[in-house]
Amino acid sequence: MGGAAAPDSSWKGHLNVSYNIGPGFADNSSTRKVRMHVHTNNKITRIYNVIGILRGAVEPDRYIILGGHRDSWVFGGIDPTTGAAVLQEVVRSFGKMKLEGWRPKRTIIFASWDAEEFGLLGSTEWAEENARILQERAVAYINTDSSIEGNYTLRVDCTPLLYKLMYRLTKEISSPDEGYETKSLYDSWLEKDPATENNSYPRINKLGSGSDFEAYFQRLGIAAGRVRYTKNRKTDKFSNYPLYHTVYETFELVEKFYDPTFKKQLTIAQLRGKLVYELADSQLIPFDCRDYGEALERYSNRIYKLAKKREEELKTYRVSFDPLFSAVVNFSKAAAEFHRRLEQVDKKDPVAVRIMNDQLMLLERAFIDPLGLPGRKFYRHVIFAPSSHNKYAGESFPGIYDAMFDIESKADQHEAWEEVKRQISIAAFTVEAAAGTLKEVA
Ligand SMILES: [Zn+2]
Repeated sequence: MGGAAAPDSSWKGHLNVSYNIGPGFADNSSTRKVRMHVHTNNKITRIYNVIGILRGAVEPDRYIILGGHRDSWVFGGIDPTTGAAVLQEVVRSFGKMKLEGWRPKRTIIFASWDAEEFGLLGSTEWAEENARILQERAVAYINTDSSIEGNYTLRVDCTPLLYKLMYRLTKEISSPDEGYETKSLYDSWLEKDPATENNSYPRINKLGSGSDFEAYFQRLGIAAGRVRYTKNRKTDKFSNYPLYHTVYETFELVEKFYDPTFKKQLTIAQLRGKLVYELADSQLIPFDCRDYGEALERYSNRIYKLAKKREEELKTYRVSFDPLFSAVVNFSKAAAEFHRRLEQVDKKDPVAVRIMNDQLMLLERAFIDPLGLPGRKFYRHVIFAPSSHNKYAGESFPGIYDAMFDIESKADQHEAWEEVKRQISIAAFTVEAAAGTLKEVA
């Protein structure tokens, strides 16, 4: 933070051994053993999810969920309060419109989850309890955990279905960044954090886990997204902000250092609110399947590039990625044709509109394998999963990736490559099946 309150690298506490703040040890050769006495309370206690429902006027059986947690490790000044406050504000705004007689087309469910920090318990229990209903009726889940983890630029993690909506809505919001007053949020985001693969768009990340969207996206296959303000990834390589989950996460930390004007939090409230509004009230669900096709293309090329490093074994064990590539091509074709039909749909015909909206809603569901990923039965999304090596990060084609990870060290090479082939088959089948759901109904 650079302020007088931040300790410098020579900071030392009261223990009579050498130690430092920040990652790593100054002396890696140390063999010192430490005995720690940890006192915790282990008890069974009650948790509370608070659920608010705004019933849709036209399609009450279609749900948009805005959910975020309320519990915290200590004071929770940033995590989750900067997000829980956003949930309250969005609820307040929608409540005001409702008092003026407005109702959304689809039902909006506002959820304040408990016990997120103990293993996503509140949100997962609610997802399990309502799984049958949600897989039939949920259109999208927007997460509302911390709205800041830095104050440099916007960070978006979402399903490819939401890319276009994210771009459009950030163009409608003005940038809260100093020196960008006349620009849109989109423009400051694009300038500060362009995508690696194509710098004419701002970066959007894959969904991993580490917050309450997990059961909705990774397990149930509900289109999901999260947005927040973040640090400069070029100069700050740490995975989390320094005081994350500590006793020093206080209101003062937010007010004095992170967001003194509260403009960043307001911006995130506007974006989360707009996402919910557009998803709930647009006649056609604002998803774009073509971006899923492009993402699948990118991810399949990426995983193939990784596999090509073992070209010998690919030949020896007859491993081919062709079925996956051909499925991805078919998916992109189906997505392009779907959007051509979508542009021409008779908007005065509610059944025709509903048919296409259902195809849009159920596309994410089509990527779910009921058997789950190997050894991780609750991660069922074939295209995305939390990385096996860092739960906060996302991995694409996780089944293939994990089968190939460290493959040279596996004792039975034949069986190891048979597993890679199985995972390629599962991925190819799933993408092909998903493409089938986009085709014109018979
Ligand atoms: Zn949190």
